[in-house]
Amino acid sequence: MEERGSPDGDPAWNLEQGPEGSETPIQVVLRVRPMSTVELRRGEQSALHCSGTRTLQVSPPGGGPDVAFRFGAVLDGARTQEDVFRACGVKRLGELALRGFSCTVFTFGQTGSGKTYTLTGPPPQGEGVPVHPSLAGIMQRTFTWLLDRVQHLDSPVTLRASYLEIYNEQVWDLLSLGSPRPLPVRWTKARGFYVEQLRVVEFGSLEALMELLQMGLSRRRSSSHTLNQASSRSHALLTLHISRPTSQQVPPVDLGEPPVGGKLCFVDLAGSEKVAATGSRGQLMLEANSINRSLLALGHCISLLLDPQRKQSHIPFRDSKLTKLLADSLGGRGVTLMVACVSPSAQCLPETLSTLRYASRAQRITTRPQGPKSPGVKPPQQAEAELLRLQEENRHLRLQLDQMHTREPGGAHGARVAWAQRNLYGMLQEFMLENERLRKEMRQLRSSRDLARAEQRVLAQQVHELERRLLSACPFPQQGSTPVCPCRMVPAASCHALPPLCYCHHLCPLCRVSLAHWACPRRECHMPQVLEPEVSQSVRPPPWAPPPRPGSANPPQERSQSDWTQTRVLAEMLMGEEVLPSAPPLPAGPSNMPHVLRGGSGIPNLTPRPETLTQQISSSLHLGQRQSQPIGDTQSPGQGLSSC
Ligand code: ADP
Ligand code: MG
Repeated sequence: MEERGSPDGDPAWNLEQGPEGSETPIQVVLRVRPMSTVELRRGEQSALHCSGTRTLQVSPPGGGPDVAFRFGAVLDGARTQEDVFRACGVKRLGELALRGFSCTVFTFGQTGSGKTYTLTGPPPQGEGVPVHPSLAGIMQRTFTWLLDRVQHLDSPVTLRASYLEIYNEQVWDLLSLGSPRPLPVRWTKARGFYVEQLRVVEFGSLEALMELLQMGLSRRRSSSHTLNQASSRSHALLTLHISRPTSQQVPPVDLGEPPVGGKLCFVDLAGSEKVAATGSRGQLMLEANSINRSLLALGHCISLLLDPQRKQSHIPFRDSKLTKLLADSLGGRGVTLMVACVSPSAQCLPETLSTLRYASRAQRITTRPQGPKSPGVKPPQQAEAELLRLQEENRHLRLQLDQMHTREPGGAHGARVAWAQRNLYGMLQEFMLENERLRKEMRQLRSSRDLARAEQRVLAQQVHELERRLLSACPFPQQGSTPVCPCRMVPAASCHALPPLCYCHHLCPLCRVSLAHWACPRRECHMPQVLEPEVSQSVRPPPWAPPPRPGSANPPQERSQSDWTQTRVLAEMLMGEEVLPSAPPLPAGPSNMPHVLRGGSGIPNLTPRPETLTQQISSSLHLGQRQSQPIGDTQSPGQGLSSC
């Protein structure tokens, strides 16, 4: 197959597929470090051979067929630091970061394979001694390029940096001013995983950034063991936050929060190590175990990310701090470059093969890069307006500052500007805090509104249920001389199904079907039951049934006193009982029926309902008592309920 692109040429050949939203594979570049003097003295032969610019052949020491691995670029031990920088296409990543993307470069491989060397060059030769420019790693070269690049941009760019290490599963700020202490890793929907209270330092020059790098490097924990004189004992993450204020972007809302914009993160992983090979004991062994555990978690996440079903499967990013902080780079919205480092030594072959296998699998992981303005993280309208107001205020203050600047005579000028800047900063801080307070207030208002809505819904259901039960309990007005069957208006099943029934022989006050008695003295023994209306009706005719013709087989039965007692109990129960909100909605009824009875979905005004219901129930009771008088009383059962 044709080998495209050259590590020495323009880096645009890799990372071309980085447009927003599309699946972008992780780019992998392989670097083979040269034989060390110790290895050469031992007379070791390299087991690795580069074939072309993208393929590596591995020859097993005991003979056997070669194994080939293909990567975006393969760089042998003869390649310079500049070659590596160009081959990795880091400038392209920098451009994407300037456009608002989140980009990550991370080195991966066995301890002593050259990860730290690739990123930052050889270990410092003395306190504060900078690395020779020809040996400077990817990080220093990127810094130089970036600081030069921002000089030529039309819009101003704000650059900030943070630097942390993960040591023994704890996050430490390498730029902290106070005494070092472990920091918590948090997660929010908008930001993903982040380190709380991490110092983020604004810088304006290459020198300032280099100083920050030196500060971090000197604080980072390293130790000496058999395979590496200056072995990193922690994973280190240096992040450059790049913000370019545009009309669409919003400034940071919290002083501890990095600005909205692009990110360029360099991750120098501590190398995996075989404790037996490195001779680690005591603290070194504890560190090695912790490093190996987090690398194992990383390997596990990489394996799962390769799963074709990964959309459904859970990726355990929470298993370690390292995987939490790399979650976005590996499976999220970032653009990622992995530099896999291997040693040519035959002694290291098992670890080398393992690194090669992981690296070649990692090439199949894809991310979905997302630019700075995602609709998902758009601030709410109110906050947006507030932010605009802050921006306007800021502009106004800057203008005032400029005017003061021109008016001041030379000597006191510096102090004056510093004072004004401090005040401007203080005011901005206040605005930001106020903004945060307003956001909180808005959140509280929203949640109380939601609560009120939920309460209203429950009330509506209760009223709904009461009305339904009332309807079931009330005799209906007569039309002419023939009583109207309420079951024509309301399905009989719902009339008989409520309230819970039992086997006692009582009547439904509506249709005189045999029903349970909820006031029965033996009600503890009752079984819940729903009677079939047809079956029940065959037992006793409903009260609205027309009077039987002479000679009819089933003469109508009179209502007994207990029927009306039952109605009273029902009414009491309806007024006192708490109704479950799971009652089914009523079917559509006549247009003059109340909205709730017609099964309307809106939330009605409930205020007059309980009163109406109480009146209806009282009328029902009153009517019931009159009806229970001996035959001869001429009033029909529905007359007192015209409002029912
Ligand atoms: P790692 O970070 O992977 O544990 P280091 O970067 O510390 O390994 O490298 C181990 C040793 O090998 C260091 O002394 C380093 O200077 C040396 N080294 C690594 N890569 C190269 C290289 N490409 N050229 C020269 N020396 C290298
Ligand atoms: Mg290292």
